[in-house]
Amino acid sequence: MGNIFRPDMCAEKVSSIDLDLLRSKHFRFALLDFDNTLAPDHATEPVPYSYDMVKALKEKGFSLCLVSNAKSDRSKRIADMLDIPCVSYANKPGTSGIEKAMALIGAEKSNTVMIGDQLFTDIAAGNRAGLFTILVERYAKKEVFYVVLKRFPEWIIRKVCRF
Ligand SMILES: [Mg+2]
Repeated sequence: MGNIFRPDMCAEKVSSIDLDLLRSKHFRFALLDFDNTLAPDHATEPVPYSYDMVKALKEKGFSLCLVSNAKSDRSKRIADMLDIPCVSYANKPGTSGIEKAMALIGAEKSNTVMIGDQLFTDIAAGNRAGLFTILVERYAKKEVFYVVLKRFPEWIIRKVCRF
């Protein structure tokens, strides 16, 4: 049970990920979830933290792409504001969105990380696609009901698998 949902790394926030460590492991591309990873859940636009994280990753030499299950108009607008490409309707935990994003930015499995706040979408999709997966704690506790429903089973998995 643990495998597909187990991230390769856990971090409190995107800002606490050791980017130098990732660089030293030859990672150069980062696929990013948006909702509750870079901003509050269902934010209509980026918050200062979102801009800061994109800037920090870019400054470390990472090429970025948003990979969001959200509707295309919202995520496209957000990605435009952040000045990074985006794949909407990404179908996570399916891998099609991730593969599309990697093709878009010229990334390969061996040099790409997936960063997100949800085990059943971001981490499962990243693991299935063969990427290095990084779980961050949710940006804020307020979430839409269908995400709230997933937090209890997530909690159980994290307890059982100890991460
Ligand atoms: Mg999310």
